[in-house]
Amino acid sequence: MLADALVSAGVVIAGILIATTGALWIDPVTSLIVAGLIFIATADMARESMTMALAGVPRSIDPDAVEAHLQRLPGVERVHDLHIWPMSTTETVLTAHLVMPGGHPSDAFLGDARQALHDAFGIGHVTLQVETGGGTACSGCEGE
Ligand SMILES: [Zn+2]
Repeated sequence: MLADALVSAGVVIAGILIATTGALWIDPVTSLIVAGLIFIATADMARESMTMALAGVPRSIDPDAVEAHLQRLPGVERVHDLHIWPMSTTETVLTAHLVMPGGHPSDAFLGDARQALHDAFGIGHVTLQVETGGGTACSGCEGE
């Protein structure tokens, strides 16, 4: 935003200088400076989005299908804070919060859920946080 404002201000100042001095070379020089600034600003953004893209949900996994799957598990009322990302090119990690008003499930439930996510989606590392929904286990987490 600040960079945009500075560029706009620079263009206005360049315009005034050209109008008052008649020095036309100011125009291409201003253009080059602005182009340089835009390049610097977007190079940063490109790097950031590349990093995010690389840590994004692997293309072979449909996050909506995973969420629907978790939602269908017995005792699960809601799912939130679902994150799926690659740990490497072959290993995928998942974390999610399961709201289970009936209380904490057994280890067998967690084991079954983990196995099912592995078999159905190829997700090998699963961390599930169980909440009963009444308290403040994660007030402020997304979808709460
Ligand atoms: Zn939560």
